[in-house]
Amino acid sequence: MSDLWSVDAYLAHCLAAITPLPAREVALLDAAGCLLAEDVVSDISMPRFDNSSMDGYAVRAAEIAGAGPDSPVELPVLGDIPAGHPDVVRLEPGSTLRIMTGAPVPDGADAVVPVEWTDAGATRVRIRQAPAAGQYLRRSGEDVRTGETVLRTGVRLSPRHIALLAAVGRDRVRVQPRPLVIVMPTGSELVPPGKALGPGQIHDSNGYGLIAAVRELGVDAEHGGVIDDNADAVTRMLNAAAERADLVITTGGVSAGAYDTVKEVLRELGTVRFEKVAMQPGMPQGFGAVGDGTPIFTLPGNPVSALVSFEVFVRPALLRLTGEPDTGRPTRTATAAVGWTSPVGKRQFVRARLEGTDSEVPGDLLVRPVGGQGSHLVADLAEATCLAVVPEDVGEVAAGDEVPCILLDQRGRW
Ligand code: AMP
Ligand code: MG
Repeated sequence: MSDLWSVDAYLAHCLAAITPLPAREVALLDAAGCLLAEDVVSDISMPRFDNSSMDGYAVRAAEIAGAGPDSPVELPVLGDIPAGHPDVVRLEPGSTLRIMTGAPVPDGADAVVPVEWTDAGATRVRIRQAPAAGQYLRRSGEDVRTGETVLRTGVRLSPRHIALLAAVGRDRVRVQPRPLVIVMPTGSELVPPGKALGPGQIHDSNGYGLIAAVRELGVDAEHGGVIDDNADAVTRMLNAAAERADLVITTGGVSAGAYDTVKEVLRELGTVRFEKVAMQPGMPQGFGAVGDGTPIFTLPGNPVSALVSFEVFVRPALLRLTGEPDTGRPTRTATAAVGWTSPVGKRQFVRARLEGTDSEVPGDLLVRPVGGQGSHLVADLAEATCLAVVPEDVGEVAAGDEVPCILLDQRGRW
């Protein structure tokens, strides 16, 4: 067993070989979801100018201080100031100007009367309620001051951050770019979904499931085509993928079978190592580099092994490639609803469902394995909302035991 890697050691070994992609400047919308790689300083203040927060009438508050329901004040309306109005306007004493939300406040005005407090007149207006001085004005710089740092390196850019960058006028921004992953399932039996199955053929589910899993991380992914189980095809297609991709994932062809060509070809190259990892499912793992040093994960072909291996090794590696310091998944501790056995010496990842609420009261959140645990059971895998993790030294989980569970839903739901 000395050549058996622990899950933690193997993950650390893979992560040590992954360097975040170099930062570069991208168009603003391409930055969404990426880590910011610069401190962003605003060269404008926001609001840029004092403006109205209401549709209404710009006034000198003191002039209408006595306005009330029974003592309306009437003023002549000397013009309109719509949003976007370019000229500096002056408010003449004893008058008002109709002003729209976001329009610049005229010189001399110190408050806005909302249209709802008036009779909405266009040439003369009756005001039934008096605003306090300063009311309904948004002051220049109250949100952002010129020269202020509005975002710092390391922020993962959410839609709110993109809005802020647009507001301060940035159309390009320096980020850790989105990697491109090419997924290439191997196996002469594989046919894409949408094509009829011939004798002995199955649909390629790994390729599609893995691409979706990669994209969920905000990383770009493409299907590089199914690779036939022959050495020439493997070499040619892997080299082509390595040229474009930041990371390549293959599935299948890495066990001890006669047509396990990925292993044969890559072992020759010497840049990919094939290891056994003490886990269930998903023991045989390959990791290394192809082409010009492009990292490659060669995952087992069984759909469940492939997806679990992705969760445990590839997902953290991809997050690291994007510059993300925290590569973990959200976990919950749940109470086993039933008991099950686990291989001693291997970390077991059990497809399971969580039931109940996240109250942190023991017993409120239950975990129950789904269906059979065979590595080929794709429909059962789809039922799972978590992977229950049983440590290496545990041979049996009893009903009522506390079990850590990795949540599979991106939003932490179950
Ligand atoms: P292999 O590791 O190539 O021996 O494949 C192990 C098992 O997984 C076999 O039953 C394959 O048919 C199946 N398999 C391999 N690749 C895929 C795939 N892309 N989609 C679905 N099943 C696959
Ligand atoms: Mg195969």
